[in-house]
Amino acid sequence: MLEISPIPAFDDNYIWLLRRPGVRACAVVDPGDEDPVLERLRADGLDLVAILVTHRHGDHVGGVAALKQRFPAAVVYGPANEPVPHRDVALRDGDEVDLPALGVRFAVLGVPGHTEDHVAYLGEGALFCGDTLFAAGCGRVFGGTFEQLHASLQRLAALPTETAVYCAHEYTEANLGFALWVEPKSPAVAERLAQARALRGRDLPTLPSSIALERATNPFLRVAEPGVIAAAERWAGRTLADGAAVFRALRTWKDRDYD
Ligand SMILES: [Zn+2]
Repeated sequence: MLEISPIPAFDDNYIWLLRRPGVRACAVVDPGDEDPVLERLRADGLDLVAILVTHRHGDHVGGVAALKQRFPAAVVYGPANEPVPHRDVALRDGDEVDLPALGVRFAVLGVPGHTEDHVAYLGEGALFCGDTLFAAGCGRVFGGTFEQLHASLQRLAALPTETAVYCAHEYTEANLGFALWVEPKSPAVAERLAQARALRGRDLPTLPSSIALERATNPFLRVAEPGVIAAAERWAGRTLADGAAVFRALRTWKDRDYD
């Protein structure tokens, strides 16, 4: 089994560390800061062979240059049409990232919307989706379009339900607060919020999530549910024609009124 563990960075980022028991080779996803990564690699005696980048934002790429300097053989993967420092391999939707040293191969999914060329990595039942899909939420539209982000989220929602979701931020509790605005009577959201509070109370991550859990509690994936449509239409003050319109209303509602 691939071992996946979080390296906390900044206030609420997770840099995901991928390793295999008994192997020195490891990879990281979205190293926004080099210091916590170098500290962990040193402590565990690991050798960095790959850096996977989901998108261009500084809190995801800020540590790449220093890590590449310390581990020159590490291969930097990132989306083709975004500036990624020291990128060795430019990725497009449908590409594969093969990491033989770790015995894992990832499919690359183009999931634009948060940024214009955001990618996600899918392998061994794990999804690394950066700032596209969050636990009970999604990224803001910062370079792509609402329509792109909606389509990307629907694509992720269609992955096998047991897929483990490793997003890049610990936003779960706050996101569930908004999910309750949208679906105030949802027992699934209330139960998940209680679980998230208990975990955060012990300083534990609420991740990974799963596609099944997101489909049950994430309003941004639930744009075809009558209750979600009704809530979005109440906020918008008009009828919303389709899922993309419901998504846009929800995203705008959260941006303006919630956080
Ligand atoms: Zn971002």
